[in-house]
Amino acid sequence: MSHYELRCRECGRTWGNQPRSICDECFSPLEVAYDYDAIRCEGSFTRERISQRSPNMWRYAELLPLPQSFKPGLPVGFTPLFQAPHLAERLGALPQNLYIKNDAVCLPTLSFKDRVVAVALAQAREFGFDTVSCSSTGNLANAVAAHAAREEFKAWIFIPADLEPAKILGTNVFGAKVVRIAGSYDQVNRLCSQIADERNWGFVNVNLRPYYAEGSKTVGFEIAEQLGWRLPDNVVVPMAGGSLIVKIKKAFDELIKLGLVEGKEVKFFGAQATGCSPISTAVKTGASEIEPQKPATIARSLAIGNPADGHYAIKTIKNSGGWSEDVSDPEVIDSIRLLAETEGIFTETAGGVTVGSAGKLYRQDRILPEETTVLCITGNGLKTTDVLAGVYEAERPIAPKLAEFEQYLQRTLDVAEVARETSVVGA
Ligand SMILES: *Cc1c(COP(=O)(O)O)cnc(C)c1O
Ligand SMILES: [Zn+2]
Repeated sequence: MSHYELRCRECGRTWGNQPRSICDECFSPLEVAYDYDAIRCEGSFTRERISQRSPNMWRYAELLPLPQSFKPGLPVGFTPLFQAPHLAERLGALPQNLYIKNDAVCLPTLSFKDRVVAVALAQAREFGFDTVSCSSTGNLANAVAAHAAREEFKAWIFIPADLEPAKILGTNVFGAKVVRIAGSYDQVNRLCSQIADERNWGFVNVNLRPYYAEGSKTVGFEIAEQLGWRLPDNVVVPMAGGSLIVKIKKAFDELIKLGLVEGKEVKFFGAQATGCSPISTAVKTGASEIEPQKPATIARSLAIGNPADGHYAIKTIKNSGGWSEDVSDPEVIDSIRLLAETEGIFTETAGGVTVGSAGKLYRQDRILPEETTVLCITGNGLKTTDVLAGVYEAERPIAPKLAEFEQYLQRTLDVAEVARETSVVGA
């Protein structure tokens, strides 16, 4: 017998394990519930035991919905967590108290979506699907296609037609069937729900959604372990469907429950793009339900106008004493550049949203300089280079001659000198 099963988040009815995401009794979402007493009795989920395991997300297997027959495949997760002293200075934090959790280097497809897909496909196998599928804002498409190739599933990927070219190419390359839909993500997602009713396919974020979502918890487990089995004061999390932020909270709660970390009130801060900010708008106006929006932002990976877990994201943020902010597209670009120039990390638009929102939260004194704060950077900048087109003008090449270079250098220094003088005059 497995130590986990599906349970309705509202009425508590249990549903065993099956490809299903909604409770038939009350139409609320299902989530995976664990037998924590059994995990405690087994005695294998301890700091010591975990620290001896391989550096990937499978080290937290006891708290993931993995079938008995499951054999870890790819080494997904266990991405770096490190201090960001130079960014801290610019945002208004103490240098040693700001951390970055860098899923821009998560394997195999450079976003945190690799974590959720890895778990969903373990269940897809168990349920006997030979085809896996998803509706995606980009990163999920990449992750499903890559994992499907490796695990020998057929993959059908549904995306809005106008996604970033790198994200489309980064799906095609794995041999997945990519279906471009002339419509918004929310329309793509609705279509996928209908297809899931028709075909015997495992849609990772539709009929496998409760299992998929559990993969996000590993971000939380890793943050705690990498801080030395300690919880931070604050986390700042970019939100699309609102699942990641809810699951980091669940991860922290589970570690407290099982005695791996000391109990602590962590504040949860959400980040969205202003052009698609249904969750952050609800937090700011005090609403407990989402009012759907029509997305208009360059932060495509976060552009979900009607977030499936919006209600629970609002609740997580409010109950923790946190807040949610949002930033304009120009602020997203400035923040991508700020993170790159201060810490050497090139993030995609979602990371710009996180850094920009964090800056606002510091300026509002909602996050204090001396508090331990973790920014979740969830995706890689090489996937969204199109948003930086035009920011850096291509310079005319010079001849491969030392004299040419000396001239070039002098010109560059002169320009810098003029810039400095004008700024002094301007001041
Ligand atoms: C999907 C995604 C998110 C947000 O995930 P949700 O769990 O849907 O809120 C954040 N960042 C990136 C880069 C993503 O692709
Ligand atoms: Zn129910």
